[in-house]
Amino acid sequence: MNCKDAEKNIPYFLQDELDGGRLEEFIDHVEHCPECKEELTIQFLVSEGLEHLEQGGNFNLQEELLMKLADAQHRISMHHMLWYILVILEAAVALAIIVAFYVIFRL
Ligand SMILES: [Zn+2]
Repeated sequence: MNCKDAEKNIPYFLQDELDGGRLEEFIDHVEHCPECKEELTIQFLVSEGLEHLEQGGNFNLQEELLMKLADAQHRISMHHMLWYILVILEAAVALAIIVAFYVIFRL
């Protein structure tokens, strides 16, 4: 993902509308690109800050953004784990089929 794509995805990320591969590419980019991280921080401050001002509560936006990023990382690792489990299940099914054929033809 390049900076232009990352920038386009910022609003979607803030609305929790990114998923799977797109979320992963986005997080990977902002973690390694200071410009896009800064742009993300600014847009987050603007959107969340306004919301909080309207509610009038105390808030720590820097911390909230870090939590949001950590949450995204968590979702990415869950996604990887599910994919891994799926691969193992498919391998198990393939193995079961091979064993079944082996048993059938030996009998
Ligand atoms: Zn960038």
